[in-house]
Amino acid sequence: MSEAIVLGTAQDGGLPQPCCECRNCSTARGDTSRHRLVSCLGLISGNGRGFLIDATPDLREQVTQLPKLSGILLTHAHMGHVAGLLWLGREAMAVRELPLWVGPRMFEHLSGNEPWASLIRDRYLMPRILRPDEPVELDDGLTVIPVPVKHRAEWSETFAFKVAGESRALLWVPDIDAFGTNSLSNLLFGVDVAFLDGTFYSGAELRNRDLAEIPHPLVADTLVLLEALKPKAEINFVHLNHTNPLWVPDSPEAKTLGERAQVAQAGVHFQL
Ligand SMILES: [Zn+2]
Ligand SMILES: [Zn+2]
Ligand SMILES: [Zn+2]
Repeated sequence: MSEAIVLGTAQDGGLPQPCCECRNCSTARGDTSRHRLVSCLGLISGNGRGFLIDATPDLREQVTQLPKLSGILLTHAHMGHVAGLLWLGREAMAVRELPLWVGPRMFEHLSGNEPWASLIRDRYLMPRILRPDEPVELDDGLTVIPVPVKHRAEWSETFAFKVAGESRALLWVPDIDAFGTNSLSNLLFGVDVAFLDGTFYSGAELRNRDLAEIPHPLVADTLVLLEALKPKAEINFVHLNHTNPLWVPDSPEAKTLGERAQVAQAGVHFQL
């Protein structure tokens, strides 16, 4: 039977972020048990092959939690999702012809810009093109469907992924500009476990940044949508920014999750 394992739960910069004195970062800097790796999902097929969704700056630690790495799928081109590809080249793992599933724009971006281009040219990575809503069979009983979502698209398109095993399906959507009622119900359709963009709890945590420049759904708003939708899926929030009050388990904000949702926990396995 296939399974998924959560390998990281933080926004692209992890927790703590360098040189940040916010409360969450200061607390985490003094307590390594509060460090959080960048959002990443591992998939393990029934045949024991391991796959990563996204190549984070923390790939070095995350990949060791999988059996033999047999491929990587990328959601999009931002730092927390692509920077870990550098571990795969000649300076470190030196993989040979590892399948790398990416969208067409992402392929152009990687193959046209160093240092990514040399990873492809020198055959460390073998790109395979993802098409919207076209299933990819990673291994027996383990299929992934790329679902296009709207997210800052300077360099690439962005995909969410639906992962289907033999008996259960999972949704992974770490970055998206917004969840409308319709898009959220479409994303959650047929899904048993969902990991949703929980970057910011509310606009209040962004003191010196304009939310319009870094749009993400707010957890407080997503909870309202979920209350109306009442999905059957177990809801987890992932990709939390370092400023997010949900990092504090007994915060008033964490209590608003109630029975409906939880913060994703690294190391948790889900049978698919
Ligand atoms: Zn991100
Ligand atoms: Zn911080
Ligand atoms: Zn992003």
